[in-house]
Amino acid sequence: MDRSLTGRIHSLESFGAVDGPGLRYVVFFQGCPLRCAFCHNPDSWDFSGGSEMGVEELVAKILPFRAFYREGGVTLSGGEPLAQPEFAAALLRRLKEEGLHTAVDTAGSVPLDRCRAAVDLADLLLLDIKALDAGLCRTITGQDGAGALALLEYCQKAGKPVWLRHVLVPGLTLDLTRLEELARFLAPYTCIQTMELLPFHQLGAHKWQQLGIPYTLADTKPPLPEEVEAARAVFRAAGMPVR
Ligand code: SF4
Repeated sequence: MDRSLTGRIHSLESFGAVDGPGLRYVVFFQGCPLRCAFCHNPDSWDFSGGSEMGVEELVAKILPFRAFYREGGVTLSGGEPLAQPEFAAALLRRLKEEGLHTAVDTAGSVPLDRCRAAVDLADLLLLDIKALDAGLCRTITGQDGAGALALLEYCQKAGKPVWLRHVLVPGLTLDLTRLEELARFLAPYTCIQTMELLPFHQLGAHKWQQLGIPYTLADTKPPLPEEVEAARAVFRAAGMPVR
């Protein structure tokens, strides 16, 4: 194993509670190939940003907290962690050696033949499907989303547990017909342990302003609680494990 590998890291969080089961150490990777219209971390896009860190340097930061992660573990998030596949794999391998549960939070934008080793090493994938429709996905992210669907298919065949995530954006994805199509598509995937519907919010809007990037969703309001509940009901009706 190459423990001398370094990766570009955006930031670290010692007690993440929303990135997989239990309390988790979250390593946010720097760099993302997508440009999601609702991204709340546009400062994580630039592959030359962040700071360079080594595998052992990160492990040394994580291990002092390991007692807290008995029910949780470590999540690689981003940015897109699978866009630094060798570094992600080396870190996952090392964390496995330490007996820590690992999750990778990905949008599936990196071809599987580049990141299969990291995917195979992760105990759990948090997979974000932005939109089922390729055209809508391109509008939202700049890519057609085929990579995410291929990754889901791979997880199904490999028996890899997935927490599926989908962001509810009024005017884009918060559409009952689209959600019904998505629920029908996802329902047969028995690898999906949890379906998380994430309401769009404006908490990252200021970062777009700071970076001087045009933000197309400035006037979009977060969904109403009853709209979120209606979306959840669609997935429940399809027999999916909704949260
Ligand atoms: S995949 Fe995540 S980090 Fe990348 S642009 Fe989309 S929301 Fe932002």
